Amino acid sequence: MTAATHTLPIAVIGGGLTGKMMALTLLQSGYDVHLFAPDPSSRPADGRSTTIHAGGYQMLSVLGVIEQLATPPIPISQISVAMGREKKGQSDWLLHWSEAETPLAYVVMNEALDGALDTALASFTGEADFTHHRTAITACEMAGEEAQLCDEDGTIYKAQRVIACDGAKSSIRAMMGITPRALPTGQSAIIANIACQLPHDNRACQRFLDTGPLALMPLAGQEASLVWSTTRADAAYLLNMSDDEFNTALTKAFGLEFGALSLTTARASFPLTPQFVPRYSTGVITLAGDAAHSIHPLAGMGYNLALADAAILVSEIISAKQRGLGPYHLSINQRYQALRQPEIIALTAATSGLNRLLSRSPSLLQSLSATGMILLNKSPLKSYISKAAMTGQLAKAPLFAGKLSA
Ligand SMILES: Cc1cc2nc3c(=O)[nH]c(=O)nc-3n(C[C@H](O)[C@H](O)[C@H](O)COP(=O)(O)OP(=O)(O)OC[C@H]3O[C@@H](n4cnc5c(N)ncnc54)[C@H](O)[C@@H]3O)c2cc1C
Repeated sequence: MTAATHTLPIAVIGGGLTGKMMALTLLQSGYDVHLFAPDPSSRPADGRSTTIHAGGYQMLSVLGVIEQLATPPIPISQISVAMGREKKGQSDWLLHWSEAETPLAYVVMNEALDGALDTALASFTGEADFTHHRTAITACEMAGEEAQLCDEDGTIYKAQRVIACDGAKSSIRAMMGITPRALPTGQSAIIANIACQLPHDNRACQRFLDTGPLALMPLAGQEASLVWSTTRADAAYLLNMSDDEFNTALTKAFGLEFGALSLTTARASFPLTPQFVPRYSTGVITLAGDAAHSIHPLAGMGYNLALADAAILVSEIISAKQRGLGPYHLSINQRYQALRQPEIIALTAATSGLNRLLSRSPSLLQSLSATGMILLNKSPLKSYISKAAMTGQLAKAPLFAGKLSA
């Protein structure tokens, strides 16, 4: 790299759901932000949905994102979990949560959330400045006490703080010398939107099959969003069969709770490789979102962890400022790591363990069906899981309580 030509306060790298949300969180908190995110080129539309827990919903509301959605997120009022295939003529939902007044979580399509984040960024009218550099970062390293970045055009920048939100295959993470620890599943997830023959009554359902969990999350009307995690070979087979064959296979695997199920959108496949990092920062360069962790989608928590990353990191930057310290101060890294790592490791281990335990052992499934899961339904563990899913048990940040501390 040659001499720096631009000096930036805070640079956010990556224009996925995490990068845009991180940039908005900083802006709303009064910080000037430079977002490095090339315009998506021929990338296929993201047909996935995101389940957002109550704390994340509060945060997205206070950031002005929820109001930018063309249609409101779909509330989940019930969650049901079953083990193995449906037993003929019997309701076999062993774990059940329901909440009449406060939704347990909300479902929003990723494309809609992405568009709402764009609109919220474009219509921001606060005092802080937002600059969108429509280019990728090709080099990122520490140079003295600042970070030095180089973009695709060869322009060089210095930044007091860099937040890398460049996804699970993060190249910035590699440039920081951080190697993630992977927990391979051998699974891929097939996703699509599905029409249900019967009303879903805003119920999210997950069935643990012997090749992986199959989940249907409620969308508007009688539509639902499918995440079917299964072995790589099975996923390839399910992806390549005709729509009619897939509809039959899906209805057979999920059972008849919502009647016949049929595709309303194209299928897509996502390889599942949960991973976490041993540390989050190198100097003033810090990881967030999937660059720092990706977890099995069975709990619908990946983006919720990213929301918690932003809530905690920005709150630590603010608290450093109150102590007279800049966004570069290294105490921010220590606090961020201490506050994020326990939750991330716990959820990565819990979701990967649950997937391995329940997806590979049909006999265990049967015995759990008979005893363990029934006991779990009555135990304090269930209330812990509910609390964690609804509020983010360990991530205590003002934004999760709907407070913006600018
Ligand atoms: C099947 C499936 C279902 C899921 N369901 C849920 C759910 O219900 N609830 C939930 O909370 N989470 C869920 N998740 C997880 C969630 O989708 C992810 O956590 C989230 O999308 C990650 O967003 P990200 O911005 O961190 O990463 P990405 O979406 O990977 O974005 C990274 C961005 O960085 C850009 N980039 C990369 N390199 C550079 C560079 N050098 N310079 C500039 N830009 C760069 C990329 O182009 C991309 O735009 C699910 C995941 C899967 C696979």
